[in-house]
Amino acid sequence: MSASHDLHCHSTASDGHLTPAAVVHRAADQGVTTLALTDHDTVAGLGDAQAAASTAGIRLIAGLELSVLWQGRTFHVVGLGVDPGEPGLQDGLARMQRARQERGEAIGERLERAGLSGAREGALEAAGTAEITRAHYARWLVESGNVRGYEEAFKRYLRRGRVGYVHGDWVAMEEGIEWIRRAGGIAVLAHPLGYDLTGAWIRRTLDAFTAAGGEAMEVACGTSPEPRQVQQLGGWCRRYALLASSGSDFHGPGHPSREIGGAPALPGDLPSVLEALPERGG
Ligand code: AMP
Ligand code: MN
Ligand code: MN
Ligand code: MN
Repeated sequence: MSASHDLHCHSTASDGHLTPAAVVHRAADQGVTTLALTDHDTVAGLGDAQAAASTAGIRLIAGLELSVLWQGRTFHVVGLGVDPGEPGLQDGLARMQRARQERGEAIGERLERAGLSGAREGALEAAGTAEITRAHYARWLVESGNVRGYEEAFKRYLRRGRVGYVHGDWVAMEEGIEWIRRAGGIAVLAHPLGYDLTGAWIRRTLDAFTAAGGEAMEVACGTSPEPRQVQQLGGWCRRYALLASSGSDFHGPGHPSREIGGAPALPGDLPSVLEALPERGG
């Protein structure tokens, strides 16, 4: 199998279905030679992932996917090559954990008031030791038979404007980028087509993101796999002279377009974020 990389995926440390070690072994089976584990607002899975990567003989990049606020909206910034033990990052992530817990409770209260009894406990059970996310509420909604499928859980209850939606008290984008940079990492704007933005707003977002020290953006995303989407993102990447990243946004088996290593190829002329990443660990 040819060498490939995947710089965006999730484990049971946040809302993924596989343990960090299982994600790493699956990556190795898929022929991925460089993997970044990027769980939502946590670095808790990185120790196990690194141990597994050493065994499996693949390179693990220490990463995370930060939820940040900008202009009153939530964006995701992937941090790659961070030192997970850096005190500023640790403090910041402790604050994010509190924000997630409070929001998780508020979502539960709202759903219970809407007649979905057991929502909060169900989601907490689905989350286990992980940070609580809307994905855990979605799983409970499916398992309890309140919705027919995962997508319907978001459409009916969890997306913006629905009864179970609560805005997260996330870090401001500028400060979140600072956390990543101070921990030695590169800040990558995740899935830029995933925010329902017009071209003008993507431009404003990239202006603010680069001004704040963001250095890279995802161009090849498992969530925007069409050739014209990659082309469009490549255009933004060139215009802003950013480094290009690629990742599947893997959360678990069963979604072929978002399998580990399954993101489309990067346009050949773009500088890859991988070349700017210092060698770390395995
Ligand atoms: P949170 O960060 O707690 O708001 O949870 C968001 C997570 O839910 C994302 O990382 C996705 O994994 C998942 N998610 C959000 N919206 C959808 C959707 N429409 N369909 C499926 N999964 C979604
Ligand atoms: Mn997720
Ligand atoms: Mn994301
Ligand atoms: Mn993600």
